[in-house]
Amino acid sequence: MAQIIDGKALAEKFRGLIKSEISEKHLEPGLAVVLVGNNAASQVYVRNKKKACAEVSIKSFDHTLPEETSEADLLKLINKLNADKSVHGILVQLPLPEHIDSQKVLNAISPDKDVDGFHPVNLGRLLSGQKGLRPCTPVGVMEMIDSTGYDLKGKHAVVVGRSNIVGKPVAVMLLERHATVTICHSRTVNLPEVVKAADVVVAALGKAEFVKGSWIKKGAVVIDVGINRTTEGKLVGDVEFAEASKHAGFISPVPGGVGPMTIAMLLKNTLNSCKEIKK
Ligand code: NDP
Repeated sequence: MAQIIDGKALAEKFRGLIKSEISEKHLEPGLAVVLVGNNAASQVYVRNKKKACAEVSIKSFDHTLPEETSEADLLKLINKLNADKSVHGILVQLPLPEHIDSQKVLNAISPDKDVDGFHPVNLGRLLSGQKGLRPCTPVGVMEMIDSTGYDLKGKHAVVVGRSNIVGKPVAVMLLERHATVTICHSRTVNLPEVVKAADVVVAALGKAEFVKGSWIKKGAVVIDVGINRTTEGKLVGDVEFAEASKHAGFISPVPGGVGPMTIAMLLKNTLNSCKEIKK
């Protein structure tokens, strides 16, 4: 049976380290959290992020705006936050209402305060191996792999999903660590065979238990990024967990895996951004 990669416990460890560093260095990191509209899931995510901030002594500045907020007004707020010295990170919760061009808004965030790591400048830095703020979920995935002591060098890593926020950046990070990386997507032919050859599987496709346990190579490291709600209201990942656990060497659960790590990495990015801006 696979060893469980406990994202909840790992995230708690990170939060402890972040809190200690903030206190020891007398830092005052601030995160502006911008939420537009009434998306129920977004409201839950934002609440969890603000709670996590409070826990580690990061100040969160709440900007909850009505659904009908114009793109121009949102861009004005971003500019104001870019100039605000008490704000070290700016988080715009996605999705934004349809009348707003999300990419335009994300591009307006100062790359130095882009704690989600979605700005093209930061994605470019990642691709070219430069220092910069990196997307939280992929960084969390890498920390989870590292927590097992697994050496990625020369290993075959298969990433299922090629989104800008998970699949592509995590593939670049695996490549940076000398894995041989295959990126799969909806047009990939014979996905099961590709996954069967993987020493490391990162599943980020957003389909409940799509990656079958029988596809997992014996001893593989499996990181499940997916968050899916079943018709019975249960949260499940993109991997068929029970069956995959019989084959994998290490596997992350859902819930209690990548989710808590993503928030912990957001806190870490905010702290790092505060330290950089202070320099
Ligand atoms: P997207 O919908 O943006 O991307 C999904 C990717 O999966 C696409 O590249 C798509 O391919 C690919 N895909 C879809 N169907 C298949 C298939 N049958 N076979 C192979 N590839 C397929 O999703 P995200 O990257 O935003 O999120 C992925 C999952 O991770 C979701 O469940 C999401 O909720 C979760 N998530 C969890 C986070 C956390 O903190 N734990 C954070 C972010 C996301 P194509 O490009 O060809 O369409």
